[in-house]
Amino acid sequence: MAVHRPSADFPRHLRALYRRFPFDRSLAEDPLSGVRPLATDPWHAEVAGILAATIAVGNTTSIRRAFADLVERLEGDLAGWVDSAREYRPDPRLEGFHHRWIRAEHLEYLGYRLHDIRARSGSLEEVFRAGLGPEGDFAGGIDRLAHALRGPAPGTPGPRPPPGYLRLFPTPLGPNRSPCKRLTLFVRWMVRTEFPDLGMWRGVSPAVLRVPLDQHVYWIAYHLGLTARRSRSWATVEEVTAALRKVDGNDPVRFDFVLCHTGISGDCPKRADLRVCGPCVVRPDCRLWRGRKVAI
Ligand code: SF4
Repeated sequence: MAVHRPSADFPRHLRALYRRFPFDRSLAEDPLSGVRPLATDPWHAEVAGILAATIAVGNTTSIRRAFADLVERLEGDLAGWVDSAREYRPDPRLEGFHHRWIRAEHLEYLGYRLHDIRARSGSLEEVFRAGLGPEGDFAGGIDRLAHALRGPAPGTPGPRPPPGYLRLFPTPLGPNRSPCKRLTLFVRWMVRTEFPDLGMWRGVSPAVLRVPLDQHVYWIAYHLGLTARRSRSWATVEEVTAALRKVDGNDPVRFDFVLCHTGISGDCPKRADLRVCGPCVVRPDCRLWRGRKVAI
């Protein structure tokens, strides 16, 4: 079977989708809407961003609700909570917190890890940049971040993480070649300067970013022919990013928010439905419509 590829006009179609996109409507649905008010400086943005990205499991409504619960429990002072987390210990304010399989003890260990990273490296940006290196090795940067957040390797001194914690921070260089959606999303928030992202990491170029490949982005990327892979992996992340780089080499991930929220909002029904697909500007590229003659 022939591999599905987007049309020659795909860059023009994608730019049109971006231009017309209702960013304000979709920001209200996005976990980033809870982070933005707390991002008053780079460290506050890092703390709020990594906590929101870490619990970004499940649908956006439940993620926003869980993050709002966390902020309320900590009275809005997430960075102050990290600054005081010199040890890994229970925090009565987090008692009973849960979101999907994430529990209070996971956040307490993460708070302790962030405190340690702040003391040793100064910021998460420094950790990421150490892995990124002069060659712009994005997977290396994510790998370095994941290891710092996971904590000491087995056999080295320091408190051990609670059961289930390590699976919060996979690495693209691990045996499963995880797409690492949550850490990749966190880095997008920190690096990109264009709305709605935070633009706090001025030492990292948007050109090195990779797409945070959640299920919505994967679905539309596959149907637009940006990848032929049938599963989400780091290889799929690289393939989709390479296709987006052909549209904007300086900022390939600028389209991520739009592709993601086209799925979340229901703008894309994920099936051929002429009432919804009719006005879709990327319909000429869509696998579900290629070759179909439709008068709109
Ligand atoms: S044509 Fe329809 S199914 Fe295809 S991307 Fe557009 S809205 Fe989604």
